[in-house]
Amino acid sequence: SIPLSFFGGLGAAARKGILVKGSNYLEALADAEVAVFDKTGTLTKGTFKVQEVVSQDMYNNEEILKFAACAESFSNHPISLSIRRAYGKEVDAALISNVKEIPGQGVTATVDGRFVAAGNAKMMQMLDISISAEDLVDAATVVHVAVDGEYKGYIVIGDAIKEDATKAVSELKAQKVKKVVMLTGDAKSVAESVASHLGIDEAYGGLLPADKVQKVEDLMAGKSAKGKLIFVGDGINDAPVLARADVGIAMGGLGSDAAIEAADVVIMTDEPSKVPVAIKIAKRTLGIAR
Ligand code: ADP
Ligand code: MG
Repeated sequence: SIPLSFFGGLGAAARKGILVKGSNYLEALADAEVAVFDKTGTLTKGTFKVQEVVSQDMYNNEEILKFAACAESFSNHPISLSIRRAYGKEVDAALISNVKEIPGQGVTATVDGRFVAAGNAKMMQMLDISISAEDLVDAATVVHVAVDGEYKGYIVIGDAIKEDATKAVSELKAQKVKKVVMLTGDAKSVAESVASHLGIDEAYGGLLPADKVQKVEDLMAGKSAKGKLIFVGDGINDAPVLARADVGIAMGGLGSDAAIEAADVVIMTDEPSKVPVAIKIAKRTLGIAR
């Protein structure tokens, strides 16, 4: 039977907008040893804004933005929304076909009879298109644009780190969580810049959804037997990692249904600092608070 104090703990968490799906997850949270965060939408706001368009040679920025906006016209990714907003015009859907969205990479589509690819360095590498811009931008996300296999240029998109994220990381460390890790499909340079800003111990970039699962497996294998691994994500493409972690935490409340289903804990707000709050309540509930 479940001790009464657990109901108190679940209730205290719920009052803070933290829905814990069972008392066993309170126990696991109290033993959190490794905290793994997704980047986009979790530690960063995920509200991307186009900052700059950089073209190669004779192509013009307007053309690059138009091809990208057309290829992105069926995607709901925050990156896609920012490109369409920056382009600012209606696109002619009749000109667009064969749209493929590749998680962790970008999109490809036929636009007006031409093969358009808009995505990160990994996507360009898969398509065997060489890029010339990778080192130019550090903390920003870059969407490369190629047409008919020819590199046209790139779009620089800025995201902002959530103010609350710094607090989340420092509080986790004060709680003796041994390792705070960040995983992202975004470029390694972006991952490193965000991680150093937040004081995160380890950051891994350029990961596809399946690579994130593998990383979580590796981190699970590297921790102590008693310690637990928690994963925190905003839901987009995160269901497999949420399911694999000892405690999968979905954030934002409005994440995908699949993520909310796969999660053990749902945080209703978009504040990562609710993670240490959940751990604090868990420790108090288990009577091991120091
Ligand atoms: P994270 O792993 O940080 O949550 P995502 O998995 O959503 O981020 O995306 C990882 C990377 O994949 C993005 O930073 C971007 O480079 C690329 N990407 C994903 N979707 C798109 C898209 N629709 N258009 C362009 N690039 C995309
Ligand atoms: Mg994400």
